[in-house]
Amino acid sequence: MTTQQYHPETLSVRAGSESTEFGENSEALFLNSSFRFNSAAQAAARFGGTEAGNIYSRFTNPTVTMFQNKLAALEGAEQCVATSSGMSAILACVMGLCSAGDHVVASRSIFGTSVQLFGNILKRWGLDVTFVSLTNADEWQTAVTPKTKLFFVETPSNPLTEICDIRLLADIAHKAGAHLVVDNCFCTPAIQQPLALGADIVIHSATKYIDGQGRCLGGAVLGSKALMEPVYGFLRTAGVTMSAFNAWVFLKGLETLHIRMEAHAKNALALATWLETQPQVTRVYYPGLPSHPQHALALRQQVSGGGIVTFEVKTKAGQAPQEAAWALIDATKLISITANLGDAKSTITHPATTTHSRVTPDARAIAGVTDGLVRIAVGLEHIEDLKADLALLNK
Ligand SMILES: *Cc1c(COP(=O)(O)O)cnc(C)c1O
Repeated sequence: MTTQQYHPETLSVRAGSESTEFGENSEALFLNSSFRFNSAAQAAARFGGTEAGNIYSRFTNPTVTMFQNKLAALEGAEQCVATSSGMSAILACVMGLCSAGDHVVASRSIFGTSVQLFGNILKRWGLDVTFVSLTNADEWQTAVTPKTKLFFVETPSNPLTEICDIRLLADIAHKAGAHLVVDNCFCTPAIQQPLALGADIVIHSATKYIDGQGRCLGGAVLGSKALMEPVYGFLRTAGVTMSAFNAWVFLKGLETLHIRMEAHAKNALALATWLETQPQVTRVYYPGLPSHPQHALALRQQVSGGGIVTFEVKTKAGQAPQEAAWALIDATKLISITANLGDAKSTITHPATTTHSRVTPDARAIAGVTDGLVRIAVGLEHIEDLKADLALLNK
């Protein structure tokens, strides 16, 4: 199917789908590790690359290929490389495109595990990493060295929903001969398409909104064919491949991506607006609110504010900020206490002691992840039930 003439909603449902001789209307699950050849000569041609076709599911698998083609159509990317998780997508991207001695500039406000990967593990293998403020373009410019290969951002950031100007950072990266990588997990292509804004590579944790119902781990790296070739080369050698079963679940998830993201954002905006009026809330972070420092930029870059709302709980006399946050979390009956996000079920998290607990207290302070902060990944329940579950905030 030529994807250009269709709207995004149609691509979600239709792009990438292929059927076998049986004519199945829903994508088939190819749960097999290897593929048979007609002859020794065909096997040699497949391995030699002179004949296209599947060889082994660590390299390619038809269900995974359908997922890759669908997500590539949605992000407007030439190629998608599916991975076993969001973290292995980031790993494959860096291992494919950087060598020891190379330099990466990364936002300080990225997923806690990504901070560990860049600042600890990859550093041990000779990658030089500088962490800078997501929103201060001067810091990105200043951090550049002749060895800089990648800029790495997450926008909106976790958990404070800070937003960077993708086009501006892409320009700075390109002038330095580097590539801009955007982890688009919080928005998905239904809300933001970084490649159209000048970014070179998009990363996904498919575990979140792409699945949409909290079932499977998966990830993806997307970009031009030239950039994806070494990323795919790392993947098929290192084996951080997406399982066919997970790809099949994600294919089903993507079909409903646009209506889900619209519903998440509608609920999140309503909840954020309500939170701003609650006596026990001192501050709300949500890009869809006019009070958000980058609201205007959010309106330009994103279709909506997305589904993540973060807020600061007020402490009562003699109460530490963490106690106040935990008391609210523990008083919920409906919202799930879990660190996952992007689920139909709303989830509530205390970032300082969970997702960001391995980040040093100093780094947490700089990133603004305070002890009184609570993050809600707003699900698809009725908004009044969500408000009622947080009733402690108006006492
Ligand atoms: C969850 C997450 C990841 C990591 O994804 P996994 O699938 O858990 O490995 C990376 N980036 C962001 C923004 C995330 O929320």
